[in-house]
Amino acid sequence: METFSFFRVRDPVFGGMAMEKATVRDVEVRGKRVFVRVDFNVPVEEGRVTDDTRIRAALPTIRYLIDRGARVILASHLGRPKGRADDRYRLDPVARRLEEILGRPVRKVDAAVGPEVEKAAEELKDGDVLLLENVRFEPGEEKNDPALAQAWAKLADLYVNDAFGSAHRAHASTAGLARYLPAVAGFLMEREIGIMGRALARPERPFAAVIGGAKVSDKIGVLRNLIDRVDRLLVGGGMANTFLAAQGRRLGNSLVERDQLDTAREILERASARGTAFALPVDLVVADRFAADAQSRVVTVEEGVPEGWAALDIGPETARRYREILAGAKTVIWNGPMGVFEWAPFAAGTLAVAEAMAAVEGTTIVGGGDSVAAVEQMGLADRMTHISTGGGASLEFLEGRELPGVAALMDRKER
Ligand code: ADP
Ligand code: MG
Repeated sequence: METFSFFRVRDPVFGGMAMEKATVRDVEVRGKRVFVRVDFNVPVEEGRVTDDTRIRAALPTIRYLIDRGARVILASHLGRPKGRADDRYRLDPVARRLEEILGRPVRKVDAAVGPEVEKAAEELKDGDVLLLENVRFEPGEEKNDPALAQAWAKLADLYVNDAFGSAHRAHASTAGLARYLPAVAGFLMEREIGIMGRALARPERPFAAVIGGAKVSDKIGVLRNLIDRVDRLLVGGGMANTFLAAQGRRLGNSLVERDQLDTAREILERASARGTAFALPVDLVVADRFAADAQSRVVTVEEGVPEGWAALDIGPETARRYREILAGAKTVIWNGPMGVFEWAPFAAGTLAVAEAMAAVEGTTIVGGGDSVAAVEQMGLADRMTHISTGGGASLEFLEGRELPGVAALMDRKER
């Protein structure tokens, strides 16, 4: 695995995010019982894990601990069981898949806390792995109940948080536990925070961001934070419609957030005041209805979207310009698809951005659930520097907000 020197990154303006967090490398783990919060919130169908990306992402930390003779207690949530046991969200399929990948036994218990768990934790030998039941079966988890955090703390000598995808939540297993045990980051957490933190705090320039997706309202925080940091901001997807409407363009039946027009204007003004190049589509792929097999054609934004039609992708001229801008970038962050990429006739804009990023000689980061799905669907995931495993968490990180799961960890002492 690549190593990143984010511990040397100090950025006083970067949302107060403490970048100097201790990791598993900074503590003695041999013979210790280690409570590791992972994000094994994977899709499960008919008792089988259908995408094990998140499990694999936690392997470097798990293997590191096993290799050094730690006694590993893994804990994760899965789905939204709302504080009580629900058979649909048990972690047995996860335990089986983890066993396959690790090539060694993983003991799974059917509770997240309590006597059965305590006994299993006590029986662990050096290098053993135990997986607890879904932490969200416990009503105290999402309430960040100190009693639950203390019960977990009693099982272990050390707390490792490797659940970047849950780091924006202040729950008992993601943040609360850090009050009762020495708390350090795992390698996935280190990598996520390191690459994104370095890009935001000390980017190689030109630094471009591509922001898309359905709504401006979902990404106001990201737009505001990035406008002050990037050299170029490229906007596409449904949210571009709201900006175009704010400039007086005709959008027909397109998704436009009328209540965000003032916000859109304010963001445009801020970009112009800061000298940030703000690129909006110059043409659009429009459809006569919101469907995969709709009739479609290309219009310029001057012509506008015909009455009754909707813009579902950026047009070819826009894609060409965005490619050109990205070709010269040294750092690119992408969040949000350029169109309704789920439907082939409206995927070209998203594909163009993904290909342009794949060709960038520099740092390329993709965050956001649907953008990541798009890049994977297009087979370009391997060509990016970093694909974030956390949708909501990466969004909050890009907003420059402090993530409770990161803030709770110990600062690293100078060696
Ligand atoms: P991410 O998960 O990457 O952060 P979002 O959730 O913000 O992205 O947005 C993704 C969704 O936006 C996709 O489902 C996509 O179909 C939709 N979308 C993109 N462009 C448009 C558009 N022009 N009109 C309507 N929906 C769009
Ligand atoms: Mg999404």
